[in-house]
Amino acid sequence: MSKIHVMSDNLANKIAAGEVVERIASVVKELVENSIDAGSSEINISLINSGLNSISIQDNGCGMSHEDALLAFKSHATSKINKEDDLFFINTLGFRGEALPSIASVSEIDLVTSEGDAGTHITIKGGKLVKEEDFHAKKGTRITVSNLFYNTPARLKFLKSEQTEVSHCVSFIEKLALSYPSIRFTLENNSNILVKTSGSGDLKKTIHEIYGLQISSKLIEIKASNDDYDIYGYICKPEILKSNRNYMITIVNGRVVKNLELNKAINDAYYTYKPDIKYPVVFLNILTDPTLIDVNIHPTKQDIKMSKLTDLYSLINNTIKDALYNNLLIPDATLRVSSNFKVDNKTLNDILNENNIKEDNDNKIELTDDHAINGQATFDFGKIEDNQEKYNDNVVINTQIKNLVLYPVGQVHGTYIIAQNDDGMYLIDQHAAQERVNYERIQKIFKEKKITTVESLIPITIELSKSDAIILKQHLEYLKSMGFLFEEFGINTFVVKEEPTWLTKGYEEETIREVVDQILIKGNNFDPLKYNDHICKTIACKMSIKANTRMTMEAMEELLQQLVLCDNPYNCCHGRPSIIKFSIYDLERMFKRVMN
Ligand code: ZN
Ligand code: ZN
Repeated sequence: MSKIHVMSDNLANKIAAGEVVERIASVVKELVENSIDAGSSEINISLINSGLNSISIQDNGCGMSHEDALLAFKSHATSKINKEDDLFFINTLGFRGEALPSIASVSEIDLVTSEGDAGTHITIKGGKLVKEEDFHAKKGTRITVSNLFYNTPARLKFLKSEQTEVSHCVSFIEKLALSYPSIRFTLENNSNILVKTSGSGDLKKTIHEIYGLQISSKLIEIKASNDDYDIYGYICKPEILKSNRNYMITIVNGRVVKNLELNKAINDAYYTYKPDIKYPVVFLNILTDPTLIDVNIHPTKQDIKMSKLTDLYSLINNTIKDALYNNLLIPDATLRVSSNFKVDNKTLNDILNENNIKEDNDNKIELTDDHAINGQATFDFGKIEDNQEKYNDNVVINTQIKNLVLYPVGQVHGTYIIAQNDDGMYLIDQHAAQERVNYERIQKIFKEKKITTVESLIPITIELSKSDAIILKQHLEYLKSMGFLFEEFGINTFVVKEEPTWLTKGYEEETIREVVDQILIKGNNFDPLKYNDHICKTIACKMSIKANTRMTMEAMEELLQQLVLCDNPYNCCHGRPSIIKFSIYDLERMFKRVMN
């Protein structure tokens, strides 16, 4: 029986809009997905002049009979759907009844296909059959689409530059290769190979073949499941970051999808492991019962709707957070210091600069925190958002990092601590390190609602404009929940009678003023629940030792001990790195004590 059926008009109408052939990549997509559905293990795509002249796809799939080959170019033909019910159980890549006829109507097509014995050769121009003959060919299909849009100049104009069209094709084939590690893909343009995978069936190897060693050497495997979803894949250590979300690749039941919720689940898991405007590299396979997903919501079929999303969010988010927590993530210096190390063609400094990561360079600090407690108060500080949830309930303690002992050796430029242990040498950014320690400390205090207060020795007076005073007055309870007792003191003036003991000594006044500033900046839109974490970060930064400040050996030792006990000791709360490692081997190599 023929594999291709002609759909009823009714069914065709139900698959609304779908088949938009608007660029080279959409033609490549339709044709390659046909090859995949034909069970190919090898698919070669060659473009001439970025596909503007021709797009040729050769596969070793099951091929088509003479009858099917002709039927494929008739409207409403599809090998995917027979009954309307099937629409609800679509588990193949798509339902492209309209694609091939659409493409054929705006180009010249040359098709050679064979089921293994007799083959067929068909030529079509502008949708009209020009030639049809028996043809000897090995099993599989070769289809060449030339002069796309030759008869629709308006659409031809719509194509972007050659480079843009090619980059879309590359990006599509890369993602397809990741979805199908068992298929050997080659994509070339004017005989230059742009993508080549071995079809090994190994996802990690495929990632390596596409993205190279810089990414494949930094992967952490993840695997988990709940009642409805199985997830499997690789996440990258946070030292590899990208400027856009294109490297967060999600594959649902074998199909690469772009889904905001899935991206959010991934990105949230990296919270404070990276600056907010950078994105991680993640390859995530999600398997589920096809009835739980709806692929039919977007014409290009890249987005999808999923049921039980909250559970899936938790599964992805927690699995990635656990993986980050349970792995030692101190970046090696060799990558950082080599002159050609770049992320997205930017140096580390560029990245830090563009992230507006600024540090104050004033003021000094003593690393003591010995306020006498003479008052005790507990207040409800409200809920700390999910993605700041820490691992208090987690019985697994990452002993790798917790047991790391770092012995301080000295300080460089009043800014970096040099430390060592048996494995090598470490450089620690003292401000970033202490900011992390303070951040986790304050967050814990707020979360556990263990605020203790002390009477201010020298009460701080805060004078405000009339309008600011009104705003502040509305937030006195919030300030109280943090441990600050503000009292009105004359016109538009407040005095701080009590302050929390979590303040670092010597930093009381500037921390209080910072908290007030943060409330005033947001004005009446200040929402404590949403803003808690921001306040924690700001306070942590204010209370941490600045660059160009000398530290004693004891202070450095104490800071390093506190750092390794953090849930994430690798970054400050803004995602900037706090510690970098030079292994013994790295050092020996730099000084040519070893020669490779
Ligand atoms: Zn800071
Ligand atoms: Zn920071």
